[in-house]
Amino acid sequence: MIHFSQLESICQGKVLRLQEDVVVEHLLIDSRKVILSKNAVFFAISGSRNDGHQYIKSLYDQGIRNFIIEKKVDLPADANVLLVSSAIDALQQVAASHRALFNIPVIGITGSNGKTIIKEWLYQLLSHHFTIVKNPGSYNSQVGVPLSVWNIRPHHTMGVFEAGISKKNEMQALEKILKPTLGLFTNIGTAHNEGFSSLKEKVEEKAQLFANSDVVIYCKDHLLIDEVLQSKKIKRLSWGYTNEADIIIEKGEAYNIRYDKIHYTLSLPFTDAASIENCLHCIAVMMHLGISKTDIQTGMQTLQSVAMRLELKEGINQCQLIDDSYNNDLAGLQVSLDFLNNQYQKTKKTLILSDILQSGVEAKDWTKSVSKLIKQNKIDRFIGIGKDLFAYQNIFNKHSSFYDSTEAFLKNLNEDEFSNEIVLIKGARAFAFEKIVARLQRKVHGTIMEIDLGNMVHNLNYFRASLKPSTRIMAMVKAFAYGSGSKEVASLLQYHKVNYLGVAYADEGVELRKNNIHLPIMVMNPSSETFESLLQYNLEPEVFNLNQLKKLLTFLQGRSCTVHIKFDTGMHRLGFAEQDLPALINLLLENKNINVATIFSHLAGADDPQHDDYSSQQAELFKNLADQLSLALGFKPLYHLLNSPGILRLNQYQFDMVRLGIGLYGIDPTTEKNKNLKPVATLKTIVSQVHHLHEGQTVGYGRHGKIKGEQSIATIAIGYADGYSRAFGKGIGKVLVKGKVVPVIGNVCMDMTMIDVTGLTVKEGDEVIVFGEQLPIEQVAESIHTIPYEILTNTSERVKRVFVAESI
Ligand SMILES: *Cc1c(COP(=O)(O)O)cnc(C)c1O
Repeated sequence: MIHFSQLESICQGKVLRLQEDVVVEHLLIDSRKVILSKNAVFFAISGSRNDGHQYIKSLYDQGIRNFIIEKKVDLPADANVLLVSSAIDALQQVAASHRALFNIPVIGITGSNGKTIIKEWLYQLLSHHFTIVKNPGSYNSQVGVPLSVWNIRPHHTMGVFEAGISKKNEMQALEKILKPTLGLFTNIGTAHNEGFSSLKEKVEEKAQLFANSDVVIYCKDHLLIDEVLQSKKIKRLSWGYTNEADIIIEKGEAYNIRYDKIHYTLSLPFTDAASIENCLHCIAVMMHLGISKTDIQTGMQTLQSVAMRLELKEGINQCQLIDDSYNNDLAGLQVSLDFLNNQYQKTKKTLILSDILQSGVEAKDWTKSVSKLIKQNKIDRFIGIGKDLFAYQNIFNKHSSFYDSTEAFLKNLNEDEFSNEIVLIKGARAFAFEKIVARLQRKVHGTIMEIDLGNMVHNLNYFRASLKPSTRIMAMVKAFAYGSGSKEVASLLQYHKVNYLGVAYADEGVELRKNNIHLPIMVMNPSSETFESLLQYNLEPEVFNLNQLKKLLTFLQGRSCTVHIKFDTGMHRLGFAEQDLPALINLLLENKNINVATIFSHLAGADDPQHDDYSSQQAELFKNLADQLSLALGFKPLYHLLNSPGILRLNQYQFDMVRLGIGLYGIDPTTEKNKNLKPVATLKTIVSQVHHLHEGQTVGYGRHGKIKGEQSIATIAIGYADGYSRAFGKGIGKVLVKGKVVPVIGNVCMDMTMIDVTGLTVKEGDEVIVFGEQLPIEQVAESIHTIPYEILTNTSERVKRVFVAESI
């Protein structure tokens, strides 16, 4: 137990005020994820863009009483306050001193890929032998690791933690917190190289995690890792396909594994190279720990692929479902609840939860923790399924119901009792909650667009990091958020604190307001018929010429309205010209009910270096016009000019705000193809039927698909009504089936398309990728001479959007 007063020496800080010396139970760093308890301590971390100190007042008002701060703030007398030089260092120091209380083996995992899967697998494989604590999800960062380590409790007999870094000098801090006794170096890829001057430097930095470990396990076939570890005074245990390794692997029918005098033959449940490498890492760890051959073998056979993601789906009766039906542990529950809170478009929240298996904690204790989480996250209705929850039901409040099995729940399920609410469905695999999802889900036909919200946040943060800390972000969510689904995307962006949203039409803004979005919203094309709803829903019109401004003024009759003034500096689409300035200024000065929030313009050729001179002229003219207007108004509204290609290429013109569009969706529209962006959208369909056809037969309308020899043709459930352009017909379009790229044959129909799958074993129901990570949308767009913007936004709304995010 650590008391608040002890933090002074642990964090080398100075207690400014100590009212009641409480035991520290919860560490808070995010004002959106607050646990209201007198034992919660808030660390006011100030990053380059976000300063924890600005939330202190509101946290105090909510009931938080313990604060660790870097600069003095005014707080009432009943708060405990510790002043430190760095709140993030303090968080790490607190975690390190907590770690020091436990003398248990800790496995520390780092490397480029596989960290999370290996961690989850070791948890599955070793949980019969140890009571294990691990990171929730991939909480492996400078703040994720301390928060994970804080979860170690006296009943744990082993820790399995992953650590990730993105630049130099980060691993040392994580090593101090984790103090791994056993290290595992997974592999090294070329990703995220920007923080390092060379690959070797990156390996060196990662290897710091093992500075005080008894042994580090790695694959000797990764030569650079081998070289770096050899140069250090660390005991090594290597495996590999080379005879030089300590554990030698031979692949035949099965895997022959030799370690000293031990010889195993194991078959592995996976066939892809990455999974096999991950399995072999796990086997090496188990051999080192002296786990018996039988246990290793059965462990491998029962190894389950890890569902690393949860899905947000459309439910029946206007419900939203969060499907997390393959995982359940306490830390993971909080991760899913966070996701629920950031997709909070409905006012009612329901949780359907199974018993938590293999937690190593008594049911009477974990059920209490669950009941606490339910209260803290303001869940309106709780449905508990499983023998333990059933047995301890009286610790939950009256808006709860309990069933001792999934079958019992399904038998009693009345679908009408679910309507207009968000339902988190979270169960351990054994409970088969996918059956519950199937009952509550709105049926989707075979074609879906999958939106990876985790990747979207990654992209947002990438752009943030490339801007000055003071530059605001307006996220463009027009056109159904570039086809990705406006309300879900907007909720996510709101949760991640973008400053503004931009839409094209008033009704898009209204839709967002109806779904709990309260960020300011700029409307670029406000027609006069929609002025009323602009006012009613607090939407902010773009004003682009005198005529339109006069119409707005007539409509307003003195009522106030916030607007955004657009100048045309060379795009020649919408905007005031220089000669409009005097009249514009007069109107604005005469009508003080018009509040100018921002002044902006738009670049015509930001994506292409050949237009850079033109872009500079636009920027100069923009600044000049905006300054004249500000001067006349007597104050300076926010200036903004850049779209995504502008942010990527012409960063010097960021002014006060940027308008981020396509980049958020993982697409770099410039010729440079930035590798740091991650694709967000995957368009998937399924095979409806397969035909085996002979020479001379034809496929589809107009008989354009001509069969040569023997061919297998699959019909897939997507056509031009779904947004799959007719231009993809006659061999131009390519899709991905079973890992192979295959062409379209014949014409694209309204709801269906035929593809040539000759030589592949393809059957009805198989998945077909139209674009996604392995078949980049840029390439698909180029094949029909268009741009990714058009492909994304053309995907029709009848194609259901499914939102995925990391769940463990
Ligand atoms: C759509 C739009 C943007 C965003 O452009 P991207 O290239 O998608 O980043 C920015 N500004 C205006 C005025 C827009 O219409």
